[in-house]
Order: sequence, then structure tokens, then C-alpha cells
Amino acid sequence: MTVEPIDPHIMEWHEGRPRLLGCRCRTCAETNFPAQDSCRRCGGAEVAVVPLAEHGTLWSWTIQRFAPPSPPYVPQAEPFEPFGIGYVELPGEVIVETLLTEADATALRIGMPMRLTVLEVPTHCGAQAATFAFAPVIEGER
Ligand SMILES: [Zn+2]
Repeated sequence: MTVEPIDPHIMEWHEGRPRLLGCRCRTCAETNFPAQDSCRRCGGAEVAVVPLAEHGTLWSWTIQRFAPPSPPYVPQAEPFEPFGIGYVELPGEVIVETLLTEADATALRIGMPMRLTVLEVPTHCGAQAATFAFAPVIEGER
């Protein structure tokens, strides 16, 4: 059984794999993530929800060494463990702000190939939810 997405408007399960949901403008073809009611580029209201690419490249990143505000963040470990955050560019689509599975600064470099994955995170009601993250692509992996 798969864990439910933390927000069904930003990601879904498709054939056992996670995928992000963005929107594409019917007027100017701009892609937005997360999906919104109108186009951020031209303001057009004709937008359609579209699944986004699973693979991209690391556009920029940093390591967060302090806990985010709670709520909405639910602490997972004591003491707090730093984690990677960054932007991943999905080719021809959009740049996505995302958690990274890698928190070792020596293992991250701008332009490296990344793939979509999920992290299970605790929710405030004590359950687990799936949120998206990007992981470095290991040599030979798809
Ligand atoms: Zn537009």
C-alpha cells in the first residue's frame, strides 16, 4: 500500500510511481508548479493540469541546518538533522523548488541529473504522508 500524498493537488501516484502535477497555459504554453488557476506569465485563465517530468537537473541548492517553523513542519529527529533543499529544472517545463534526499554538500553539484522520488513524513495527526523530493541519479539508474 502506498502512502497518500501530503497534497493531492501537487503530486499523485501513477502506475506505482510518483508524479508531480503542474499546469500548462493553453494561451502561451507556460508551465507552472504548483498548478494554479491562472497563468503566471500571461494571466490567462485557460490552464490545464499536466503531469510533469520525473527527471531534471539540479539548478541550485543549499543545506538547511535549522528546523523549519512548526507548524507546518513536524519534527522527525532529535537532534534536528540538516537536509538539502534546492531547485530542479525539468527540461522544457518549469523549475521546481524541492526537498533533496542528499544533505551532503560534497555530493551535490549544479547541473547534476536528478530524479523524482518520495519521502514519508509525519503529519500533525500522527499519520504518515508522502511528499516529493529529488534524488541524485546514480550511474546506470533510470
Ligand atoms: Zn499563459
